[in-house]
Amino acid sequence: MMERPGCKRRPRPAKRQSLPEQISRVPETARFIRTAAPAFFREVSKDYARPVIPAPLRPRPELWRDQGLHAAWLGHSTVLLQIDGFRILTDPVFSTRIGLSLGPVTLGIKRLVEVALPLADLPPLDLILLSHAHMDHFDLPSLRRLENARTQVVTASQTSDLLRVRRYARVQELHWNESVRVGPAKITAFEVAHWGARMRGDVYRGYNGYLVELGKTRVVFGGDTALTASFKRLRTTRPLDLAIMPIGAYDPWIRVHCNPEQAWQMANDAGAEFVLPVHHQTFRLSREASSEPVHRILQAAGSAPERIAVQSVGQEFHL
Ligand SMILES: [Zn+2]
Ligand SMILES: [Zn+2]
Repeated sequence: MMERPGCKRRPRPAKRQSLPEQISRVPETARFIRTAAPAFFREVSKDYARPVIPAPLRPRPELWRDQGLHAAWLGHSTVLLQIDGFRILTDPVFSTRIGLSLGPVTLGIKRLVEVALPLADLPPLDLILLSHAHMDHFDLPSLRRLENARTQVVTASQTSDLLRVRRYARVQELHWNESVRVGPAKITAFEVAHWGARMRGDVYRGYNGYLVELGKTRVVFGGDTALTASFKRLRTTRPLDLAIMPIGAYDPWIRVHCNPEQAWQMANDAGAEFVLPVHHQTFRLSREASSEPVHRILQAAGSAPERIAVQSVGQEFHL
């Protein structure tokens, strides 16, 4: 729902017609005003008053040693990854609200929890990995603030038009099963079960999961996905160290967002040793309680809860 806001620019009223007259001519708008609008605006004003709680933990990437795999969950699908000194940030969302920006104001959903590391405190990044153009993954205010001449971007097909590409070192789009090298890392896009339209009509946009390979380390970033067999194809004889998997926003959106048990299954299909659950606890996008996904994935892990790499916003993982 957040990802496909139906908000369109309001048509300019014709002369001598009041605004209510104008908008009531549009049947969908009229229906909305009659039925859903009072509840909608009640929710919006409640949401404006609600404070955003601080992240429970604050990662300290400045203490990470150069060698090895280090990760910190900053909230929603934003993960800071460092593999042998190479730094990657997935789907950066640092804004308090996600949605449509109209000048300084953003119409959209407000965070439940603050981002665990302010954007200004991020270490220099080598790569930004963008799974798809939905607003809770592809946050333009955050991406603008991250523009700089040393950071490359890898994104899904037909999404780079949303970026100011010349302000990064390089921007590359990947279709499914295509790979690129970024410094010492090999990045391969793979098919997930989701959709890519940011608004309603731009259904041509791509949506990816990614496999990151650097030295002996292999990490999967699942993006957003429903249950799909495509994670099975990531399994090789080489171990997969970490799978960053979405586990929230499945009720009632199970056709496009997997539930925790399905995320666990897909990570196991890929042969992942550790699972870093994301896409929960940060924005209210669905009906399930915000604490439910993490409880369910811990239950799914059964006798191996140590395979769940993090449980709280701001938590770090090291290997
Ligand atoms: Zn999405
Ligand atoms: Zn999402």
